[in-house]
Amino acid sequence: MEIQENISLKAYNTFGVEANARYFTEVHSTEELQEVLRKWRGGRPFILGGGSNILLTGQLEGLVIKNNIRGKAITGKKGGRAWVSAGGGENWHELVLWCLDRGLGGIENLSLIPGTTGAAPIQNIGAYGCEFSEVFHQLEAVEMDTGAIHSFGKEACRFGYRDSIFKQELRGLYCITRVSLELTAANHRINTAYGDIRRTLDGQGITEPTIHDVSRAVIAIRSGKLPDPKVLGNSGSFFKNPELPPEQFRRLQQQFPDVVHYPLEDGRVKIPAGWLVEQAGWKGKRLGGAGCYEKQALVLVNYGQATGRDILALAERVQQSVEEKFGIWLETEVNVI
Ligand SMILES: Cc1cc2nc3c(=O)[nH]c(=O)nc-3n(C[C@H](O)[C@H](O)[C@H](O)COP(=O)(O)OP(=O)(O)OC[C@H]3O[C@@H](n4cnc5c(N)ncnc54)[C@H](O)[C@@H]3O)c2cc1C
Repeated sequence: MEIQENISLKAYNTFGVEANARYFTEVHSTEELQEVLRKWRGGRPFILGGGSNILLTGQLEGLVIKNNIRGKAITGKKGGRAWVSAGGGENWHELVLWCLDRGLGGIENLSLIPGTTGAAPIQNIGAYGCEFSEVFHQLEAVEMDTGAIHSFGKEACRFGYRDSIFKQELRGLYCITRVSLELTAANHRINTAYGDIRRTLDGQGITEPTIHDVSRAVIAIRSGKLPDPKVLGNSGSFFKNPELPPEQFRRLQQQFPDVVHYPLEDGRVKIPAGWLVEQAGWKGKRLGGAGCYEKQALVLVNYGQATGRDILALAERVQQSVEEKFGIWLETEVNVI
């Protein structure tokens, strides 16, 4: 186990902001992680995946552990179903492509989401009408304070919209080392309900899409809409879409009759945060080196020289003006560290 000191995390976060880790190490197996936890005496370490859902606002004083636990395998097949197990440090998109290559479906709509497989359950990643929790089977995690291995089934994870128990009560307490998915090996459930996917496939003349067609369509849509972090630092959607109780929504609609909204099954109403940010006048605006992306107001970007604090200052200004105009406080989807 090698622990390095004063390591720049600029290359380890997709916002590309400068921040140092006082101590830094990488783990490649559960045993290596347990050894680090056994020997380390300086407080609970911070687990780093692909750095695509964090905003670093200062130096990290403790130990940062980069999860590099790899390995993926099909662990079982039965009646048109297949179970896949992957190390927490596996790149999520590579896992999606690996599954597609083996004819396994269920995660094609989640193509091209950056980050690691171990972080996918944390915020229950979702896109284009599909959520990670729909294919989740089970996970293994190491308790940071004891080094003990625990497994979590679906119920224990308490998945919600961009949420799980690992973002709530168990925040920072576990390192997810292995994730198991239940996928389809036959009779795939093709999900093209999302308008953009349908339009892209129609444009290609594809009427009976395969899981590969859906993945390619998602990749094409995402590449056209979202900034590539290698070119323009960002962490995807910065804010969560607010879900309003019916009464609050009715009042909002009286004041703003053209409010974009999606009724949810439980009676609440989802408002796209991007619409709120855009209506508050932030789309394409810059504040120093930070800005709201010109094609999608929900994505905050680093134009090159922004610090984490600059981006946080912009986020807070956006939150304030959305609250002043609409009476809604936007919650951050990105983890501010
Ligand atoms: C361009 C772009 C597009 C995006 N699009 C989407 C999208 O469509 N849908 C979506 O849901 N998200 C999206 N995201 C957000 C991001 O990709 C996901 O949240 C992803 O799961 C984060 O993975 P990561 O490995 O980079 O996590 P990190 O940013 O490294 O970590 C995020 C949090 O999880 C913790 N963590 C990481 N790994 C572990 C682990 N193994 N065990 C315990 N804790 C851990 C960290 O401590 C941190 O608190 C996007 C991001 C970008 C940059």
